[in-house]
Amino acid sequence: MQKLIYLSGYSEPIQQQAQRLLNEGKLDHYLLKRYPQAHSIKTDAQLYDYTQQLKQRYMKKASPLRKVCFDSKVSVEHHALGLNAHITRVHGGKLKANHEIRIDPCFKHCPEEFLRMIVVHELAHLKERQHNKAFYQLCSHIEPDYFQLELDLRLMLTLQTQQHKKLYE
Ligand SMILES: [Zn+2]
Repeated sequence: MQKLIYLSGYSEPIQQQAQRLLNEGKLDHYLLKRYPQAHSIKTDAQLYDYTQQLKQRYMKKASPLRKVCFDSKVSVEHHALGLNAHITRVHGGKLKANHEIRIDPCFKHCPEEFLRMIVVHELAHLKERQHNKAFYQLCSHIEPDYFQLELDLRLMLTLQTQQHKKLYE
């Protein structure tokens, strides 16, 4: 059995089930049935607006976002899908916190639900730096399907890397 790197955080039964769906060629169908459409957010400006809308709605009080963009260095250098930078600079004697969110460009080609999941993840880091219980509670509060979406996103990435299939191009 090939190692399913995107699913390594899941239990053995889940990994086996994913492998079975993959072997039987049923993963495409599973994903396309649940998530028939790709979103249309392709530029950094669109991604910024999308993220701001979610922030305004759920995390109004968190510190402002200086930058939100797609960045191909995210996954290669950090083995992550999204990245959060907290930059503190001195402005006229005052400390000013700035946040940047960088998202792997693979999220240009996916259903809107998966993009939302990763944006919610990065927004939640504005409040909770660590991946602790409070962090995941916040994620699930903003997006009730957070855990299911993360699993399904990882199934899509598994399909893409193992069978070089792109479902949402
Ligand atoms: Zn994180």
